[in-house]
Amino acid sequence: MKRAHVIGAGLSGLSSALQLLDRGYEISLYEAAGEAGGRCRSFHDVALDCLIDNGNHLLLSGNSSAMAFLDRVGARGELIGPPEARLNFVDLRDGARWTFRPNRGALPWWIFSPSRRVAGTTPGDYWPARKLLKAQAGDLFSDLLPTSGILYERFWEPMVVGALNIAPERAAAVLLKPVLLETFAKGADACRPLIAKEGLGLTFVTPALKVLDEAGTQISYATRLKGFDVSDNKISSLSFGSDSISVAPEDVVVLAVPQWVACKVLPGYAGPEEAEPIVNAHFRLPEPLEGHETDPVLGVIGGMAQWIFTRGDVVSVTISAAGKEAELGGQAIAAEVWRDVAAALDLGTMSLPKWRIIKERRATFVQTPDEVSRRLPAKTAFSNLALAGDWTDTKLPATIEGSIRSGEMAAKVLAGS
Ligand SMILES: Cc1cc2nc3c(=O)[nH]c(=O)nc-3n(C[C@H](O)[C@H](O)[C@H](O)COP(=O)(O)OP(=O)(O)OC[C@H]3O[C@@H](n4cnc5c(N)ncnc54)[C@H](O)[C@@H]3O)c2cc1C
Repeated sequence: MKRAHVIGAGLSGLSSALQLLDRGYEISLYEAAGEAGGRCRSFHDVALDCLIDNGNHLLLSGNSSAMAFLDRVGARGELIGPPEARLNFVDLRDGARWTFRPNRGALPWWIFSPSRRVAGTTPGDYWPARKLLKAQAGDLFSDLLPTSGILYERFWEPMVVGALNIAPERAAAVLLKPVLLETFAKGADACRPLIAKEGLGLTFVTPALKVLDEAGTQISYATRLKGFDVSDNKISSLSFGSDSISVAPEDVVVLAVPQWVACKVLPGYAGPEEAEPIVNAHFRLPEPLEGHETDPVLGVIGGMAQWIFTRGDVVSVTISAAGKEAELGGQAIAAEVWRDVAAALDLGTMSLPKWRIIKERRATFVQTPDEVSRRLPAKTAFSNLALAGDWTDTKLPATIEGSIRSGEMAAKVLAGS
């Protein structure tokens, strides 16, 4: 029986493993850490005494590869969000609140409706956005759209920073094109904001591992790939330090590890080099906050906090493109973000509750035009090896959707369809 050796059990590795399982391969999965999930994981936090995610992750219902992955592992029901496409925002500078509500269907008439579009904007503000659909490889967001004005501050800046984890002045505009085409251009059905109900682990990781386990997958944790042997232009064995595993001629290998690991074990390969941090602040409140069950996500303008996720008594806050913030101490971040949270969620003078700051220093590769041009394709020079990972050339931003799509692409390269 042919076997697929998948290195790395983040979402791209899990996605490739499921794809190759469905194409008739037996799977061996090797993960350097003691658990699966990579940058998309949950854990029990001792300080807060509850389950938290390493960071808030927002999906849109138009993320078709992510939805197909969840359907495959029977976990689509683990996502929660409003019944329709709507996202609440607050601007802390003037207290303005609004709900962004795109309409169903491809014709975006919501821009003519003051109750659906961004507060303080006019329909004419949206027209220049068409330039993003013509973005070329070298274009920055700021080459195509203004980086000032109310629509920028209240829509484009949070969207670009949220989706690409980089300031719009440095962002590769070409990555926004597929995002717009696969979500906003399809109307409300593709724009429902969704988050993990109980956490990323229970939504993406545990159900995928269950499917793989039931199919007899061998999963090895604390198993770090150090290098390969090559024979006849094929990977012939995998080296894990003192252990080595032979790869039969009919077997395939997916390298689903971060770029700095892939380029180290693959001499002569060079991918994106720089990484951008994301900081998350988690707060455990004395009691659950009512009223956020159907709209758990709030976009915040004008503060350090950018997105607030409220789930029961846990409030989690994202700060993307957080190069500056990642240099601050935990107490300083917690205090400032809590001020934003208290104002945004109308918590009055509630004092700073128990908190935990998580700095993911290498959250994504830096999505500038230069670094995007360094992304590597799934196909390699070795006929039985493919690359996967959010940093590979999926044409999508480095996101859950991108990493799951990369797993699909790697499987197609290796299985031929
Ligand atoms: C804080 C944060 C917030 C985010 N927010 C969002 C969001 O809101 N929406 C969204 O869609 N995306 C978001 N992302 C991005 C998303 O998490 C990533 O794109 C995705 O998880 C990347 O998956 P991956 O499999 O490509 O890489 P990884 O998750 O990095 O997986 C790679 C795996 O390989 C393993 N590994 C490394 N070296 C070796 C080795 N030598 N041998 C064996 N195994 C090895 C690692 O331990 C890891 O498990 C966020 C990321 C972070 C960090």
